Amino acid sequence: MNPGTISFLRQAYREYYFKRADSIEFPVDVGAREFGYIPFGGGMVRHLSFRSDGEAIAEILKQSPSSVYCSNARYESPAASIEEKGWLGAELIFDIDATDVPTPCKRGHDLWYCENCHSFGRLPRPPKCTKCGKQSAEFHGTCETCLAAAKDQALRVVDFLTKDFGVSRGAIRLYFSGNRGFHIHVSDERFTPLDQQGRAEIADYVRGASLPLNQTIASTFRRRPVGMKSLEEGWTRRIAQYVDSRRETFTGTLQKLVSDAITSNKAIVDSYVTTDIHRVFRLAGTLHGKTGLCKTRIGSIDQFDSQTDPVVLNAKTVAIKVDFYPTFRINGEEFGPFKSQMAELPTYAAVPILSMGLGEVA
Ligand SMILES: [Zn+2]
Ligand SMILES: [Zn+2]
Repeated sequence: MNPGTISFLRQAYREYYFKRADSIEFPVDVGAREFGYIPFGGGMVRHLSFRSDGEAIAEILKQSPSSVYCSNARYESPAASIEEKGWLGAELIFDIDATDVPTPCKRGHDLWYCENCHSFGRLPRPPKCTKCGKQSAEFHGTCETCLAAAKDQALRVVDFLTKDFGVSRGAIRLYFSGNRGFHIHVSDERFTPLDQQGRAEIADYVRGASLPLNQTIASTFRRRPVGMKSLEEGWTRRIAQYVDSRRETFTGTLQKLVSDAITSNKAIVDSYVTTDIHRVFRLAGTLHGKTGLCKTRIGSIDQFDSQTDPVVLNAKTVAIKVDFYPTFRINGEEFGPFKSQMAELPTYAAVPILSMGLGEVA
């Protein structure tokens, strides 16, 4: 990333923070949180603390970084090293990434490319570029189908939380991550003191990873009269509803039907994110460093439009030289594909290319 590109990106982000600092959503107890950021063209800075929202905003404006993070944990001394912070508890958070949710469209938009000669092709990625033999890299695109599939996974998590864990809907906040997924923040005091082990058990539960073998579950259904009214709860209820409603017409084995029931109910969450009690998360209302999109609070999931709602950067045209970038959609428009060429793009469409290091401001 050359100095001209870094300065362009910082300026675009600064303009957003200057105009819309009020849309940054700070957690309660700001003074007990660890903050961090990544400057454009630099590495992660962590273990920062601010006494107030205003102090944090001043620093965000000054740095105009590519990413801003805040801990879900509260600490006695948030700026100290991890061993000396004095952990006081943390919100429960789930992360769903569209990359992990299988969709047929990925074949079309996930690619390998060569940083040297800008060749590209379908995955799987050859270890070396097929044209010049240099190192190749993976490019994960995203589309509405992928995001809709990720959204469905997020709703499954909400369903587990409300029905199986008795969390009130008002304690659950859903966010578009700013890139390819969704974050679910749960403010329920019962989870706050949980350690890694406790959080891992919850993540395993929603992932269906703690269930008995499909074979074992199927054998309990073999003994179960068809049409029995289900009084069960949790996973048993989910599987029973699925199996009972299809059992008479399903042509495969009962074990396969149980397996389908689990697949259609489990939520693909990233366990590492949920279990890491010292993690920092992108601060809501701030911009993603790779896309320029805003981490956006979702009020009504049915009305949320991932193509337009998180687009907050300006539309001023900028001339850039693009090494490589596949076709993408943003703000209702389609751009690309680009390969070793000049392009004039609105800032919000140029930023993802520039911040991925796949182009420079001309
Ligand atoms: Zn090459
Ligand atoms: Zn897709």
